[in-house]
Amino acid sequence: MNFLEERIVKDGIVKEGNVLKVDSFLNHQMDIALFDEMGAEFKKRFADANINKIVTIEASGIGIACIVARHFNVPVVFAKKSKSINIDGDVYKAEVESFTHKCKNNVIVSRKFLGSDDHVLIIDDFLANGCALQGLISIVNEAGGTVEGIGIAVEKGFQNGGRIIRNLGFHLESLAIVESMDATSGEIVFRQQ
Ligand code: 5GP
Repeated sequence: MNFLEERIVKDGIVKEGNVLKVDSFLNHQMDIALFDEMGAEFKKRFADANINKIVTIEASGIGIACIVARHFNVPVVFAKKSKSINIDGDVYKAEVESFTHKCKNNVIVSRKFLGSDDHVLIIDDFLANGCALQGLISIVNEAGGTVEGIGIAVEKGFQNGGRIIRNLGFHLESLAIVESMDATSGEIVFRQQ
């Protein structure tokens, strides 16, 4: 087991409905030393990619993305959830369905902060059905930028997102891939990587 898998086993809680709660170290209280280790690992895994920007989605991707960005020495842009439909045309937008909240959000990125010169590493905390990632990919594409890679903390391998994104040809690296988890016993099985 790697450092993140060990931490998930120690502090993660399996909930009904295929939800893994990691709020004591990943997406509510945040363990910055752990994030730093994740940043170093992503830097290793994307060593050959020429990355000049990190893109994530609010809220829980932001903390991880910021620490990862220190390892790449690049800025972070996060897609904002927006209630209003922006009609000025000064933003890129996508519709993203939330796995955990079961609702649809419009997410936007200002045209000022993403363009055709950008070589992007997308970072997020979880990959479930891939909706958040597809939204971010479509925003980078709309900007004319290039998705150089995608770094995920926890992929739930029993949901479809990872397969869809890899089939699209993206370089996707997940630090922990949960193969199965059981809310009754609390058991979590990881995919061998
Ligand atoms: P997707 O769009 O891939 O279906 O879901 C990804 C988003 O849903 C992530 O940004 C994350 O915030 C949230 N998410 C999905 N599954 C889980 C889960 O098991 N636990 C937590 N804490 N968040 C999840």
